[in-house]
Amino acid sequence: MIINQPSAKDFEEVTFQCLTQAFNLLYKVYQDYQGYDEDIQKDVEMNKIWKYNDGTIGTSVILLHQAVETFMKSVVCKTSPLLLIEKKRNEWPTLPSRTDKDFDSLYTISGESLLATFCGVESELDINEELILFIEKVRQNRNKAIHGASKIGIKPNELIEDILKAFTYFFGKDSWFLHLSNFNFKNPLFGFYDWDIEDTLTYEYLDFAEFMIGRKKLNKFHSVNLTSRSYFCKICKDTIDEEYDYLDSKWAFLKPNTPKSENLYCVNCNAEFNVIRESCRIESCKGNVLYRDNEIEENICLTCYR
Ligand SMILES: [Zn+2]
Ligand SMILES: [Zn+2]
Repeated sequence: MIINQPSAKDFEEVTFQCLTQAFNLLYKVYQDYQGYDEDIQKDVEMNKIWKYNDGTIGTSVILLHQAVETFMKSVVCKTSPLLLIEKKRNEWPTLPSRTDKDFDSLYTISGESLLATFCGVESELDINEELILFIEKVRQNRNKAIHGASKIGIKPNELIEDILKAFTYFFGKDSWFLHLSNFNFKNPLFGFYDWDIEDTLTYEYLDFAEFMIGRKKLNKFHSVNLTSRSYFCKICKDTIDEEYDYLDSKWAFLKPNTPKSENLYCVNCNAEFNVIRESCRIESCKGNVLYRDNEIEENICLTCYR
């Protein structure tokens, strides 16, 4: 018999881990850079930092490829993990006279054989030409990364887009952000500094993704329309402003996005709350989405926050 056969869930878990690490490697480079003040950033531009971190980009490319292969294995596994075994079937150690073999000790298929098997099994996925081209592109980038760091052709912004694409193809819209936030939350060190602040800081992932690929492209990976007008989220803003930093990011949107809508949804903290549709009293501000702050008995404009 072949013992300790893996499950689809095992492979899915590894897929998530690879995608998360592929993203986080690049995010950490950006986050470190953000820690320097503006004068230094003027002297040392971000593209110089990316060039210096070529090796990190290469590692991220390899992790993305690993994620894609592992995901295909998870899909194949739903039919049977035996389909992943490389060995000719007449050589399988399955007869009662043969000693049991651990699945992990056997060679498994990869590359073209894996792709053909992935396309051959029944699955709920929409396996179309676009997905196949994407898988092929990831494979070629990985080969370049393996054959020498100097040959990495992919730019970090394109790589981030590919990582978000993989998350979305495999697990649906919003999955990249939900998964990264969740990973953060599971950190045993989470909450020791400040539970609320740490929980809210996930907006930095959104800021980073926007910085890398722009809001229009980022929009493809979310179910909420990120290209519609965005507002401050009262909860995120107060949490960060009170004891951490000044929050500039606006990740809250009217839901539904209509002129009379009185409901605001925050992509970052997932909260929904009522808003008042009245013009802001600040002359230079065209905002018309206000929040009633009962503590100070004032309406606060969620465009200018005054
Ligand atoms: Zn929020
Ligand atoms: Zn205003």
